[in-house]
Amino acid sequence: MICRACKRPDLLRYLPLGPHPPANAFLRADQLAQPEPSFDLDTHVCLGCGLVQIRDQVPVGFFDHYLYIPSASDTMHRHFADFARGVRDRFLPGADSLLVDIGCNDGLFLGTAHNMGIRTLGIDPAANIAELARQKGLNVVTRYFGPQTAADVLAGHGPANVIVTTNTLNHVDDLHGFMQGIDTLLAPDGVFVVEVPQALTFVEHNEFDTIYHEHLSVFSVRSLVELYRFFNMSIFDIENLDVHGGSMRVYARRGHAEANTVVRDWIEREIAAKLFDAETYRGAAQEAFKIRDGLLHLLDRLKAEGKRIAGYGAPAKGNTLLNFCRIGPERLDFLVDRNTLKHGLFSPGMHIPIGGPERLSADPPDYLLLLAWNFAGEIIRQQSGFRERGGKFILPIPHPEVIE
Ligand code: ZN
Repeated sequence: MICRACKRPDLLRYLPLGPHPPANAFLRADQLAQPEPSFDLDTHVCLGCGLVQIRDQVPVGFFDHYLYIPSASDTMHRHFADFARGVRDRFLPGADSLLVDIGCNDGLFLGTAHNMGIRTLGIDPAANIAELARQKGLNVVTRYFGPQTAADVLAGHGPANVIVTTNTLNHVDDLHGFMQGIDTLLAPDGVFVVEVPQALTFVEHNEFDTIYHEHLSVFSVRSLVELYRFFNMSIFDIENLDVHGGSMRVYARRGHAEANTVVRDWIEREIAAKLFDAETYRGAAQEAFKIRDGLLHLLDRLKAEGKRIAGYGAPAKGNTLLNFCRIGPERLDFLVDRNTLKHGLFSPGMHIPIGGPERLSADPPDYLLLLAWNFAGEIIRQQSGFRERGGKFILPIPHPEVIE
């Protein structure tokens, strides 16, 4: 296995999470008796550039019916509205400028930009979700992004002044093919903006559950610097973001530039956090097993006291945690999620039933395990009624703890 960013060989395999079904492969009741495809989830790191990565194992076509829809979260609504305004004000002065969003999902970001009068185009392989974007009046190309798609879009729409891709590059196996496409489609003075979970917080907070088969990489700034260098592009700005447990928004354009202060400072923080040292990852692996044992101990103690426990959120990362810890319906009665597409389905692997948040008032548990811990603040605020009735929350990451 060679690093998909910098192409160095000899990755360090540090965290064998065991066999997992694809984290977004939610099941209908009639599928529960059928065998589920499952693959070992082995986490590697490239100590040369700091890219945390797993092998791509999910069959082609899986994303055609992808279930993650960001519009379900208020936090993400605000997040994208601010982003769209920033992009327009900084990089899209001309009325005819083109903004392309790769992996546009249901068009939450693109719709906001479109409503500001910006000429937009979305590219997303998931047909069912792209349809939701089209219903907002957006122009969407339903294809995987790569050199050929880029050439076709260029022929049909002209070069892109800004290409944005949020929480998508971390799902891409062939990063070099993707970047070749960016090189084709981006205008000579265009800006390429990537939003991805960042290795710094991933390592500092031990967010090992954000690893799942479709989520192939966690990026350090150094890994992006090295990747972009192959395509004669360089980073000129980085913003720190709180979403998804710690993300970053990285701005790049054509040309080789001496690393500016922002980039230099960031890489220095990565060095200080020992992102390029094997010892860091060996420690993180030990910590992951400690979190598993601590969480199981806590849940079993509560069950022994006769408490009822449910899970809040049925995100992909929740399934990594549930499958790694082997937490099934004997410990969690049910999961609730605001995404109606998941209601009536069962979690992959552990087969916990999923319902809507209304179940928390109709059939209140004593404890709620926050599987969507990156939205803990928002969930706890929304569930003030549950809390007032004596309900408590369990935060699994970075250390299992009860919030009264
Ligand atoms: Zn590398």
